[in-house]
Amino acid sequence: MSLANKLSEERRARLAAERLLEQKQAELQAANRKLGKHARALSDEIVETRAEVQNVLDENQRVKSDLTVANQKVEIAERRLWHSIETIQDGFAFFDSDSRMIAANNAWLGVFDGLEDVKPGVSYIEVLQFVTEEGIVNIGDMNPADWREKMLDRWQSTTPEPEVIRLWSGEYIKLIDQRGNGGDMVSLALNITETVRYEKQLTDARTKAEAASRAKSSFLANMSHEIRTPMNGVVGMADLLQDTDLTDEQQLYAETIKNSGEALLVIINDVLDYSKIEAEKLVLHEEPFDFERCIHELVMLLQPSARDKGLDLLVDYDLFLPTQFVGDRGRIRQVMTNLMGNAVKFTESGHVSIRVVGVAAEDSDMADLHVSIEDTGIGIPEDKVGHIFGEFNQVDDERNRKFEGTGLGLAISQKLIKMMGGKIWVDSVDGEGSSFGFSISLPRAEAIDPDSTRMPDGLKRALIVDDSEANRDILTRQLGVLGIETLPCKSGIDALTQLDATIDLILTTHAMREMDGMELSEAAREAGHQTPIVMMSANTSAAEQDPSRPHLHALLQKPVPRQELFAALKSIKVDTPATLEEAPTAEPVSEVQPDEPATELRAMRVLAAEDNKTNRLVYTKMVKALDIDLQFAENGIEAVELYQSFDPDIVFMDISMPQMDGKEATQKIREVEQTTGKRVPVVAMTAHAMDGDQDGILAAGLDFYLTKPLKKKAIIERISEAQPTSARDPVGDN
Ligand code: ADP
Repeated sequence: MSLANKLSEERRARLAAERLLEQKQAELQAANRKLGKHARALSDEIVETRAEVQNVLDENQRVKSDLTVANQKVEIAERRLWHSIETIQDGFAFFDSDSRMIAANNAWLGVFDGLEDVKPGVSYIEVLQFVTEEGIVNIGDMNPADWREKMLDRWQSTTPEPEVIRLWSGEYIKLIDQRGNGGDMVSLALNITETVRYEKQLTDARTKAEAASRAKSSFLANMSHEIRTPMNGVVGMADLLQDTDLTDEQQLYAETIKNSGEALLVIINDVLDYSKIEAEKLVLHEEPFDFERCIHELVMLLQPSARDKGLDLLVDYDLFLPTQFVGDRGRIRQVMTNLMGNAVKFTESGHVSIRVVGVAAEDSDMADLHVSIEDTGIGIPEDKVGHIFGEFNQVDDERNRKFEGTGLGLAISQKLIKMMGGKIWVDSVDGEGSSFGFSISLPRAEAIDPDSTRMPDGLKRALIVDDSEANRDILTRQLGVLGIETLPCKSGIDALTQLDATIDLILTTHAMREMDGMELSEAAREAGHQTPIVMMSANTSAAEQDPSRPHLHALLQKPVPRQELFAALKSIKVDTPATLEEAPTAEPVSEVQPDEPATELRAMRVLAAEDNKTNRLVYTKMVKALDIDLQFAENGIEAVELYQSFDPDIVFMDISMPQMDGKEATQKIREVEQTTGKRVPVVAMTAHAMDGDQDGILAAGLDFYLTKPLKKKAIIERISEAQPTSARDPVGDN
């Protein structure tokens, strides 16, 4: 090969190498560029990662410092909590679910008096062991093992009951243990020594107060006795004095002594009653009684004072309500007396009406009675209505001052009604009148008799003649429910104008302005009417004497109990004119018929035991009109002796007597009677007004019970009842 060829070949080769080199350089540059780019990306990433790491580090730092703060707070909170727990004087401990102590405050541990083993980790059983071994708790007579078992049983129950233990030091600790979620137990030991001591003081104070209250009651009982005994002399003697020859002036003095004495007794009784209720000494004595009769009796009692003022006393007793109930008749009567007495006292004109309505459930024994006493009197100012039920409270103004009273009546009535489970209230309009009401629920003592309201068939239309509108209304309603059509008449004249053959009955009142009931009956007969006439009168004895009496089918004593009115109406034979013979009349109690030939009979023997001279005198005077043989004993011992030698038909026995009291004497008499087989009636005469006396007296073998001041009528009744067939009638012709 030529050089030239070689050269050109070398050049070509060189050129080729140069191209290759260029190419490789270009590739290298491209690779470098890529590498550079990658390196930049990588360094960006590193920067980012570094920043993130820094963030994490910062975060970590913050968390760490938060944690430290939190830890510090927890420590502070724990310290404070523990400090608080340590500060409280009650013991506090908690145990884990295995009953091992986790912690306890010093108060809890203090009880163990430095016993080193009682510390966190100790088990509850061990604690109980220490308690009994060291005598920390006063377990009384209980066996230590039994006590521990009891305490452990309690501890293991899910909700342990609080337990009071007494420490050897006399302190009382109440253990309150509560189980937490995981079975942990929090145990509180409250020191209740002060409370127990306080409770004991309270109990002691209560016992003392009760003793004082009992002392007060017996003081009152004695006081009542002490006051009543001389009052018996005062009232009784004044009464007897009035029966003697006196000038008008002396009569007035005697009357005043008697009235003042009786008024004083009312006050004493009120104060006694109130104190008894306050001392919770008053017991209700429930027995069957006739409520309607009770109201009528009260109306009879109030009739004279109502009549003096010209007041009408009206009774409106629900026709379909039974009359027999079981309750404390005396106390119900006391409430009614007070309310009705007030109504009459505070009413100058118009009327006082007593309304009784009630619901007697068919399926139960109970009846809800609703009693209201309305008057047309002075009324009570609105701002005083709430005040008058308070003790010693009266509406104190000029017009009220002239009325007598203690202001205790309503307070007693309210308490009595409350004791009976009822309610009492008043509605009043000043200057117009008052309406006092009460409601009580009482068991019925009688079944409702539908027959009692069934009237004769022909009795369809009746004239109701009364000049009192309220009375006409009541009768209209009462006859209305009986199915009788009524025509109200304001006067006798009015009645005569309405009277015709369609009228089956004239129901008239006696006293009326213009023409009274008697004149009406006379006029009706003169006009040729034979219509049966039933007359209601407050003064039947006067009516009985009236020449027109034969015109009446029946004469009824006002206030008329429902049963009597029914009986009078039922006895009417409508088609045939009523005759006098058939007519039921309100006859006075029949005279006692003396026994056979008086000559063969002896006088009744009456023994009275009474230590007080004045009272013996009063008693003698009270029975002076009687045909009896009276002997006195001055104490219980004498009474028993006389009983044996005198053989009395009846014994009146004072309860409080020196040497041997009336109860003991009666017991002795009853013992003697065991051998003779006789039984003499013994009547207690007592000034004791406290409840429970009556039971005590009757339990001692006495049969009856009279309270001083004695009433002549009651003594005579008792003697008459005891009259044996061998003795003359003690009342005789008197
Ligand atoms: P007393 O009648 O003994 O004063 P009460 O407690 O029975 O005591 O009555 C208290 C007061 O209530 C009476 O003093 C009177 O002011 C007033 N009061 C009671 N009932 C009536 C009544 N029906 N009308 C007007 N005021 C009455």
